Amino acid sequence: MFNAILVDQPGSAAKLVRLGEAELPEASVSVDVAWSTINYKDGLALTGRAPILRKFPIVPGIDLAGVVTASTHPEWAPGDRVVLNGAGLGESSWGGLAQRARVDGNWLIRVPEAFDLRQAMGIGTAGYTAMLCVLALERQGVTPAAGEVLVTGASGGVGSIAIAVLAKLGYSITASTGKLEQGEYLRNLGAGAVIDRAELSQPGKPLQKERWAAVVDSVGSHTLVNACAQTRYRGVVAACGLAQGMDFPATMAPFILRAVTLCGVESVMAPKPLRQQAWTRLASDLDPRKLETMTTGIGLGEAIGAAERILDGQVRGRIVVDVNG
Ligand code: NDP
Repeated sequence: MFNAILVDQPGSAAKLVRLGEAELPEASVSVDVAWSTINYKDGLALTGRAPILRKFPIVPGIDLAGVVTASTHPEWAPGDRVVLNGAGLGESSWGGLAQRARVDGNWLIRVPEAFDLRQAMGIGTAGYTAMLCVLALERQGVTPAAGEVLVTGASGGVGSIAIAVLAKLGYSITASTGKLEQGEYLRNLGAGAVIDRAELSQPGKPLQKERWAAVVDSVGSHTLVNACAQTRYRGVVAACGLAQGMDFPATMAPFILRAVTLCGVESVMAPKPLRQQAWTRLASDLDPRKLETMTTGIGLGEAIGAAERILDGQVRGRIVVDVNG
């Protein structure tokens, strides 16, 4: 028997339960999970505030890090340290908020030597998505010499890791946050300037003063619209999130008058070579000491409460869940 968070059916509350090995799904790789995490999407799933869960009963949790215990997949053997982000984990298949999992080996990534399993979940989907955003900017030719980069939702998971990575790469960063009291935290991660997110969150003019060479946005809605309207000629905006809203009440002006590029970033079904590239780059471009300053550990029984807190915007950085704690 082992501990797991379980949601029985649509609308029912998540609860901590004991399950048996026989309840694990059929899949190629069995994993002893060590750590999982609470991303914004886990908050939505655990509280039922959005229809993230699509199969019942289900163990939620869109991320896991652990050690392979059995495998019929040619790439994986017992003892391998693995991480899995998205790919339906904790949405349409058994997720990471349990001491055991059985998953499709095709989606697994080997944990880079640079990280232990807790650090791998300190990164989690939020950090891996932050790196996907950085890779999207690079694919469009953005370099540190291009100028200032805006990071919105700065004190959140995606935002914090984006700042730490961009800083290590030599970028000059402005952090937009609703938690101005976290200014020192954001500067220690590598932000050179911190602005109040209220400057970006209201409807604005279609074209505004050109400020940003590039943007990493995890907020959406008016914030993303204003970020595009303030992006410099031929600048690039990577959009991955909707913490303010799913809407995008924009005009064409930044795109057709300033040649701004808007890149969508999606982590769940990202192909394996891109996932691998993101994790390889995280190993070289994320300072583990900065990761530690943004990581808070909790036990499995505390995961449900943490889900409420992340949706209420009360979480700084990343939460990691010790599924054995
Ligand atoms: P977090 O909750 O950790 O961070 C979100 C941050 O956004 C908050 O910390 C807060 O930062 C800011 N924020 C919250 N509410 C509002 C609001 N009403 N208006 C403006 N800013 C707000 O979440 P994650 O970092 O885990 O995820 C961020 C977003 O990215 C989510 O929408 C998530 O669904 C999305 N996402 C998408 C992925 C994809 O595949 N496309 C993958 C991963 C995440 P502050 O207080 O500093 O302003």
